[in-house]
Amino acid sequence: MALSVVGMTATAPTSPTAPEVCDFTVLGGTGDLALRKLLPALYLRDREDQLPADTRIIGVSRTPLDDAGYRAEVRDAVVRHVDEARLDEAALDRMLARVHHVTLDMEQPEDWDRLHAVLKDRPHHEDAVRVFYLAVAPSLFGPICQRLDQIGAVNQDARVVMEKPIGHDLASARAVNDAVGAVFAEEQIFRIDHYLGKESVQNLLVTRFANTFLEPLWNSRWVDHVQITVAESLGVGDRGGYYDHAGALRDMVQNHLLQLLCLVAMEPPTYVGRETVRDEKLKVLQALKPMLPGDVDRDTVRGRYGAGLVDGEPAASYADDLGHSASSTETFVALRAEVQNWRWAGVPFYLRTGKRMDRRASEIVVVFKEPPHAMFPHSEGSTSANRLHIQVQPDEGMRLHLTAKEPGPGGIRLRPVSLDLSYATTFDQPSPDAYERLLMDVIKGNPTLFMRRDEVEAAWTWTEPILRRWAATPERPKRYPAGTTGPIAAAMLLERDGRTWQEPDQ
Ligand code: NAP
Repeated sequence: MALSVVGMTATAPTSPTAPEVCDFTVLGGTGDLALRKLLPALYLRDREDQLPADTRIIGVSRTPLDDAGYRAEVRDAVVRHVDEARLDEAALDRMLARVHHVTLDMEQPEDWDRLHAVLKDRPHHEDAVRVFYLAVAPSLFGPICQRLDQIGAVNQDARVVMEKPIGHDLASARAVNDAVGAVFAEEQIFRIDHYLGKESVQNLLVTRFANTFLEPLWNSRWVDHVQITVAESLGVGDRGGYYDHAGALRDMVQNHLLQLLCLVAMEPPTYVGRETVRDEKLKVLQALKPMLPGDVDRDTVRGRYGAGLVDGEPAASYADDLGHSASSTETFVALRAEVQNWRWAGVPFYLRTGKRMDRRASEIVVVFKEPPHAMFPHSEGSTSANRLHIQVQPDEGMRLHLTAKEPGPGGIRLRPVSLDLSYATTFDQPSPDAYERLLMDVIKGNPTLFMRRDEVEAAWTWTEPILRRWAATPERPKRYPAGTTGPIAAAMLLERDGRTWQEPDQ
């Protein structure tokens, strides 16, 4: 039996194929997410002839637009957000011919008949795979699903796609999952985490499970610790209203960083398939050492950016970006987590994320233990621990740091070197955007790279005590100047354990 590896298509027990007829409805079709990410991604897949031949893309919003008006907006968005080398007039025209717009207010029950009329307006409409992408505020997720059900739009092949945030705590996440789950079966629900669609993240699974050399080392015997950094150089921009209610822990750690941690820490599944990977990720989330109040005080650091310099340009403080200083929301988190199982007992996982940091870079670093014995007593230079850097963005790739002998006669001079795998140069083609991959998975009905309900809830179960403890303490987030690596306390979190953060270009 051939096995399926994520990112490659091969015959597998659950190998999904593209349907022949598809209606891809973007609820919130004029919004930032739709125009910046979703429609460009659909254009790019259509350009590669991957959309089902009979596909319609239906944007839904309150803005009064006919098909021609919406097509003009979509054209602008594709031209603006797709690399010039990948723009092709004939492909764009073909994609735009698929595009339609339905003007409706999702909060007005009677308006929904307009969408229903469009969905039924095609031969064999009952055979179409219907994708409903919820690119709207999460408060609308439940009501939208209810309306879709009431108008009879949810056929057997329907799927619904949800963006983060799924709730702001465990109870609200359950409420969203209950509301959506009352209409769609779990296998029809696609909770997107675009980090999982990145090539380097999928390659992490391939590197771990399609090679043999790492597996014997991938445990507490040989791994000293793991670091996961997701640093953004941007501030909150015009998302301040949303962000101030969320903060870095909810916005980034609860979803993206914990998902990356799961992929590093999970056990090999029997094969890489729709439920097996998610089963293993869930076990990691359930094995995270619970955060008691004392653990939160000791093992977490909150920060908030003050004014500073980013890329040589002055950057305002969070309070100035927000327009007031009354908030106690964190824009930075660093924490120490532990996975309590046989493989990882005693190995710290340090997670760090923040806005207005010195660079935009996401990276996983697996730091191996020092060699057990100094074999070159009379050498110059020194050995350093081996490290595997997995660069998630911006330049996807992988670097293995080793110690080598510097060429030359005489004694031995030790020097750190690295084996580099750059996606851009090795594969001589740009990596597709994560959404390109993930939207095709939705169309094909492949949920492997999407979060299951139990995963989301397990991630909230672990995160919530941190939020509760922070809310119960008078301490406020520590200030860090914009354009830096975060508050000093984050460096001390590791120094306390005799370690340091690996900065992305080290
Ligand atoms: P946005 O720019 O505010 O867009 C919202 C869209 O929903 C617009 O098309 C808006 O169009 C439509 N809409 C809002 N209320 C409506 C109603 N009552 N009836 C019909 N249409 C309505 O928001 P966004 O940034 O695209 O974000 C959408 C969702 O994705 C949010 O849940 C967000 O948290 C999540 N998300 C976004 C990003 C991102 O990069 N933007 C990233 C991750 C997650 P009209 O005003 O014309 O009705």
